[in-house]
Amino acid sequence: MSHHITLKKIELVTHNVLRLVTDKPQGYSFTPGQATELAINREGFKTKKRPFTFTSLPDDQELEFTIKMYPSHNGVTDELGTLKVGDELIIGDAWGAINYKGPGTFIAGGAGITPFIAILKDLERKDSLQQNTLLFSNKKEKDIIYKANLESWLGQDVFFVLSEEQKDNYTNGHIDKAYLADKNIDISKYVYLCGPPPMMEAVTADLYALGLPKSHLITED
Ligand SMILES: Cc1cc2nc3c(=O)[nH]c(=O)nc-3n(C[C@H](O)[C@H](O)[C@H](O)COP(=O)(O)OP(=O)(O)OC[C@H]3O[C@@H](n4cnc5c(N)ncnc54)[C@H](O)[C@@H]3O)c2cc1C
Repeated sequence: MSHHITLKKIELVTHNVLRLVTDKPQGYSFTPGQATELAINREGFKTKKRPFTFTSLPDDQELEFTIKMYPSHNGVTDELGTLKVGDELIIGDAWGAINYKGPGTFIAGGAGITPFIAILKDLERKDSLQQNTLLFSNKKEKDIIYKANLESWLGQDVFFVLSEEQKDNYTNGHIDKAYLADKNIDISKYVYLCGPPPMMEAVTADLYALGLPKSHLITED
């Protein structure tokens, strides 16, 4: 079923990531970590649906999306950057397999943090963040989405990795097997993984090599 929603706020949260806030259709429901197909209600874009994750929570009065723009694609995310308050979007129902099953390690790359923003925000509101760790990989410091929120929620249990920048207080490189072993991933708990396809492939192989059972790996697949 499709729903028309109206943009109430649009702002940049990093140099290339937008925060969009819209009204919420009556009775619309989802679980933290889920996504929906979103299109822009403009000529030429109405049928161009792309998946985006809710970064608001189910009980919030509004819907929020956190979206990285790719100007080089000349696609939907580029067009989203031209929207103004009052413009309309079209969304479908919520779907998606990522949901919180219990404490563990969250591993994200870039905009792959969005399902974990919803899940961690939900845990924070329920005062249930204990025993969760986040490993978050980005190219540069300026690319890190909601860094201050993540630090305030997770304190010592959030670790940032930069692949294209050397900086104090950050690990330089990629999240690889050595890094995962160094972080002492507890494979008896859950691992939640979301990032670009090459990262998903590499980190999944590393996690299995470290002994993580398939049933403990939570991804969108
Ligand atoms: C379940 C799920 C949830 C998601 N949630 C979020 C979220 O919350 N936030 C977020 O930011 N992203 C999220 N994504 C990713 C998001 O869906 C994509 O970034 C988005 O679809 C890109 O749309 P686009 O139209 O801008 O570009 P695309 O649809 O990727 O590309 C448009 C066109 O550009 C060309 N193109 C494609 N790749 C390249 C390239 N590398 N270089 C040049 N041209 C290219 C192709 O011709 C393509 O048809 C999610 C993805 C999934 C699967």
